[in-house]
Amino acid sequence: MHARIRLLAVATAVAFTSAPVRAGAQSVETYRAAADRLIDAAMRDSAAWNRIAELTDTFGHRLSGSAALERAIDWTLERMRADGLENVRGERAMVRHWVRGTESAELITPRRKPLAMLGLGGSVGTPAGGITAPVVVVTSFDDLAKRGAAVKGKIVLFDVPFTQYEATRVYRTGGASAAAKQGAVAMLLRSVASFSINSPHTGSMRYDSTVATRIPAAAIAVEDAMLLHRMQDRGQSMTVKLVMNAQNLPNAPSRNVVAELRGREKPDEVVVIGGHIDSWDVGQGAMDDAGGVVAAWEAVRLMKTLGLRPRRTIRVVGWTNEENGVDGGKAYRATHAADVDKHVFALESDNGVFRPYGIKAVGSDSMLAMLRRIAPLLSRIGADSVTRGESEADVEPLLDAGVPVAGLNVDETRYFWYHHTNADTPDKLDPRDVARCVAVFAVYAYVVAEMPEVLPRNR
Ligand SMILES: [Zn+2]
Repeated sequence: MHARIRLLAVATAVAFTSAPVRAGAQSVETYRAAADRLIDAAMRDSAAWNRIAELTDTFGHRLSGSAALERAIDWTLERMRADGLENVRGERAMVRHWVRGTESAELITPRRKPLAMLGLGGSVGTPAGGITAPVVVVTSFDDLAKRGAAVKGKIVLFDVPFTQYEATRVYRTGGASAAAKQGAVAMLLRSVASFSINSPHTGSMRYDSTVATRIPAAAIAVEDAMLLHRMQDRGQSMTVKLVMNAQNLPNAPSRNVVAELRGREKPDEVVVIGGHIDSWDVGQGAMDDAGGVVAAWEAVRLMKTLGLRPRRTIRVVGWTNEENGVDGGKAYRATHAADVDKHVFALESDNGVFRPYGIKAVGSDSMLAMLRRIAPLLSRIGADSVTRGESEADVEPLLDAGVPVAGLNVDETRYFWYHHTNADTPDKLDPRDVARCVAVFAVYAYVVAEMPEVLPRNR
């Protein structure tokens, strides 16, 4: 997950009036029978959950540049073909290739204690013998700035409690360069997590090109960050040894997974649904984001099985390299530059396939109003909410080209407990909730691909 707030339209949402319920010229009731069949089929069994488990158990985590990612892509393409999906292909994308290597962090003084840590994606490594230095705990960029030269030669620890992902993530992304600017030799981060059982959370970081020195950066568990902070408050001085063998390698070839159900009347017009096939190099990337890819895939498989072929094409996309570059999302936009105007809607799931409330859309009031007319088809599974939201990372290049986009809006209560950790495994997902997510994908994709009119574009 790497969503960014978009402020395309700030007008208040159009109120939904209950009767008559119409999607453009057609009453939404036109689509009720097909929607019910799709929902029934999705809720009938645990097929989608089983597939998430098989994919992630078999290949494990799937970081860009890894053989595991490419094997998972091969398997997915093969299974999509076996399911009878159409135009199944891998679309080439060059992706960032960072490797973690061995790594560790240890509190040396006032007592020795191993620290649960994960280097941040994109970080440089330490010198061979590691970095051993005093630690200064700060609580914000302002706090860091106030310390001035006091952090020179030290390891800076950002102990910033989780509020919202977007607000807390800035320390993960930019903390190393901010600390380096003041002469720090390494950066540690309190994991970006809403709950912790001593579990470090990785994630991407980047170096500010205006800061000459690139220092190693790693996340430590919330508990250890709080421990170090308490020690500092008591006036105890702490020393930590950080060892990281991380490397940034040349970009590597990868692929976006693409499969279709061709439209029966307007095959050139496309509704895109999907998630990202890559993951961090910890856990199994089940929640983030095999679930998104599989739920979209399953939605189209069910349409195929039920003999529902809408007017327009529905294209499932499993983007590569969302986690550390969004090179897949950018490559998709470049590959489809000539027909981006034919993309009528793009719906992504990248917040875990937990219980869905509906969708969060990015676009004009009239676009939201049109989606709100479709929403009641999902009332029976409690997924009829349409709110204004933010773009998911992989569809953002499409949003920038004017394509109406939305994301699945799910119960995120537990998402940041497991996000980017070794605990992102399929057991965290409820098969019933996964099935509901399949239904949300299926109903929106089907109706938007079938209805005579198209959603208003963003420009
Ligand atoms: Zn994700």
